[in-house]
Amino acid sequence: MSRQIIVGNWKMNGTSRDAQALVQALVGGLPAAAPDVVVCPPFTQLALVQPTLASSPIALGAQDCHKDVSGAHTGDISPAMLTDLGVSYVILGHSERRQEHGELDETVREKAVAATKAGLTPIICIGETEDQRESGEYQDVLGWQIKGSLPDGFAGIVAYEPVWAIGTGLAATTDQIAETMAFLRAELVRQFGEAGKAIKILYGGSVNAGNAVSVLSIPEVAGALVGGASLKADAFLSIVNAAS
Ligand code: PGA
Repeated sequence: MSRQIIVGNWKMNGTSRDAQALVQALVGGLPAAAPDVVVCPPFTQLALVQPTLASSPIALGAQDCHKDVSGAHTGDISPAMLTDLGVSYVILGHSERRQEHGELDETVREKAVAATKAGLTPIICIGETEDQRESGEYQDVLGWQIKGSLPDGFAGIVAYEPVWAIGTGLAATTDQIAETMAFLRAELVRQFGEAGKAIKILYGGSVNAGNAVSVLSIPEVAGALVGGASLKADAFLSIVNAAS
């Protein structure tokens, strides 16, 4: 199995001082045989933490980008602006963006195309709501999200994040994750053929120091997308240490 990848999604948290302290602690505490590690600070902290990360194996990611290279898009950030700052990954279609900003699968797909063109690796988030899981339609939902959000020839990463598990402290069970991962792999192969076998699938949703070992040992789990627990260096490093 290739190296797992642990991605920290800081969301809209922290001051510049917090960001500096966190990356310094992560760089200082990173184990020698670490998995791939990515941190995704808010836009305003990217340039600030970049020099500290540049001297380490930790890669820099962003939490969103626009689909255009430049232009009249007040408040938006283009993929080229991110690569200009040394960013190499971008989270796209997070459920918070889908819910709070009305992002549709099509929007996510257009952003993924633009991000890839600019040289970024997109991490596309998909996941069902609690209602969709309970009604049993979650596989249909996930299948449609893959079809709608992933562009043709997709060479990025998928993050499976059940919406009901995000920020709730209630991660999906290992059985739920294992069953859904097997479904997602089959669906990726059905939709992308041979290339679907190589797309990495992360799990996200209340991953923490306590459950990381069990989550990361589930078949098909290529790593984790971590929100709350990525804001504390010791918790995030425990998750990093649980990865292979
Ligand atoms: P959480 O967030 O780890 O705080 O549940 C995960 C995410 O939203 O990516």
